[in-house]
Amino acid sequence: MIELGLEKRQFGHRARLALRPAEACKADEQAHAARTLWNLLHAWWRMMPKEKRTLANADAAIRQARKDIGFLAALPAQAAQAVLKTYYRAWVNCWEGRAEAPGFKSRVRSVMSVDIPQGRDLNIVRVHRRWGMANIPKVGRARFRWTKDLPVGKRADADTRITGARLVKDALGWHIAFRVQTVEPQPGPHSGPEVGIDVGVAVPIALSDGSTRTHGEWLTAREQEKLLRLEQRAARRKQHRKPGERTSRRLHRTYDQIQALRAKAKRRHLDWQHKTTTRIADTYSTVVVEALRVTNMVRSSRGTVDRPGKNVAQKSGLNRSIHAEAWGRMVVMLGYKLARRGGTLVKVPAPGTSQRCSVCGVITPGSRESQAVFVCKNPDCGWSGNADHNAARNVLHLYRMGLALIPAAGRAVARRARRVKPAIAR
Ligand SMILES: [Zn+2]
Repeated sequence: MIELGLEKRQFGHRARLALRPAEACKADEQAHAARTLWNLLHAWWRMMPKEKRTLANADAAIRQARKDIGFLAALPAQAAQAVLKTYYRAWVNCWEGRAEAPGFKSRVRSVMSVDIPQGRDLNIVRVHRRWGMANIPKVGRARFRWTKDLPVGKRADADTRITGARLVKDALGWHIAFRVQTVEPQPGPHSGPEVGIDVGVAVPIALSDGSTRTHGEWLTAREQEKLLRLEQRAARRKQHRKPGERTSRRLHRTYDQIQALRAKAKRRHLDWQHKTTTRIADTYSTVVVEALRVTNMVRSSRGTVDRPGKNVAQKSGLNRSIHAEAWGRMVVMLGYKLARRGGTLVKVPAPGTSQRCSVCGVITPGSRESQAVFVCKNPDCGWSGNADHNAARNVLHLYRMGLALIPAAGRAVARRARRVKPAIAR
């Protein structure tokens, strides 16, 4: 089907949905049903003996649950199937060492979302310069903000089309995230230089060529002040609540305001990440990063012997998870943006990059004078300089030594995943 010199590309596009209150309620119900279904599935999975954990059995259990529990019917059948698929994929990711085992989803902490697995169900039409319309199963026809040219109507074909979507709710309301597939000319070779990148201590991103990528605060001083005030107000109201008493409307409203401010900060952060990674992918042909296991990184805020904690303050508490998540997201962005431009993202094993002197190559524990300054303990060298750039140069050095990781899971793990596979080959 695809001509020579062309390649398939998949990406996501997120748009804000304009739902009427009643429609938003229906979407809420669907998301709650999807979460409940996930939890039922997880309980079932844990209860079943290993040999009975097949996709066919899980499917039967889901059908039974949808008959027995009334409010699960709010969820379209396709979306229920998608929950099962996602749940199974979560296990495969766990078996292949990419993620932790799936668990129960709590009402407060999990993101509200509903899958629309079939793109053709959406029936998307552009109705205005700024608005599109799409069918949301069991909700109805809804408007969404048209901010990107989507392949719909005559512009869609077997290769270029919308393959599905997902409804996602955040503090600003319901959004629709489209899965788009296009065919594009294969990029020529990238002519830019190589670069190593390290997550800095003093700066967010340090590059091996001595440059940095920085950002300011995500919220303005006034917004930060407002956030603090709201948080204090929420804490005060929570204090006055008697045990077992329902959360008041006023407290709920304060929570919503806090959420909205945090969502604003997150959006600005995302925007910065996109701009920064695009510029890096435009400039450099090969980008080398440390292969950090995000889950490990979160766990050891103080660090290990071969990698003493960086950003200990940033990595404690809530900030810690945000920080690790943010870097993980940047690596993902760099990966696909470089691939589109004919460049490559390379991961190298992490240990020792913060203790090795990038000038003489000697590794001495404790060479880090402070968090920001590196001082070489080798008496013949004695070089000192910015610790972040030193680490970034070491990352690049590891790649030039041929230490790049091959992006493949361990064989034993892959075999384990294959053994379970026959169950989903339907
Ligand atoms: Zn040295």
